[in-house]
Amino acid sequence: MVEGITRSNAVPYITAWSAEQYARYEVVAHPAGGIAYLDEAPHDRDADGILWARMTLGPGRGRPDFGRVHLGRQRRAMRALLCQVCGEPADRAEDGALWLLKDDRTDWPGWPEGMAATHPPVCLGCADIAARRCPHLRGGCVAVRAREFGTCGVYGSLYRPGRPAPTAVTDVITTPQEPRARWVLATQLVRVLRDCSFVDLRLSRAA
Ligand SMILES: [Zn+2]
Repeated sequence: MVEGITRSNAVPYITAWSAEQYARYEVVAHPAGGIAYLDEAPHDRDADGILWARMTLGPGRGRPDFGRVHLGRQRRAMRALLCQVCGEPADRAEDGALWLLKDDRTDWPGWPEGMAATHPPVCLGCADIAARRCPHLRGGCVAVRAREFGTCGVYGSLYRPGRPAPTAVTDVITTPQEPRARWVLATQLVRVLRDCSFVDLRLSRAA
C-alpha cells in the first residue's frame, strides 16, 4: 500500500501510476528461436525462461491509471497471493482463497471452474473497494473461493518472426511448456482457479 493512503480512498496495489510506463526496449530474434531483448539481462526472464516486459517503478507518482496494471506488482501479488488492493496477504479460508471475478456465469456450465485468472486475489476488507474501483469488475462481479489456484503460465504479447525484427501480433495466455512460449513477451502471471464455490459478500455495485 502506498504510504499515506487510507483504505477508503486506496489506489489498488496493482494499479499503474502515470509515472510507471513500459520501458524502452528492442525485441530481436533469439539465436535459438523465439524472442530476446537486444540488451537482455538475466533478470528479464523468469525461472521458466519466459521473457518479461519491462516497466518503470514509481508507485504514488503522478496519477493512478485505474485501467492499467503494473506488471511487477501484478506478478508479485499473483505469485505470493497478495491482495490486489492493499498488497497484504489475500483472504484464505478452509474453502479456499478469495477472488473477485467479473460475473461471466453464462460463459460455460460450471464457470469459473478452470478459469485462467490474471487479477490477483483480494482480502475481505478490500473486496468492496475492488468491486467499485476495478474497471473490469464494473457491470457486476461475484466473489469466489478457489481451493486450487496453481500457476499455469503467463499472459502477454505473442510475436512472430519478421524482418528487421519480430513483431507482436496478438495477446495470448501460454504455459511455459508450449513452443510458442519462446515467442511471448509476458506482462501478467496467470493462475487457474479450480474447486470453486461462490460466496455472498454483499458487495456494493460500481457507480
Ligand atoms: Zn486488501
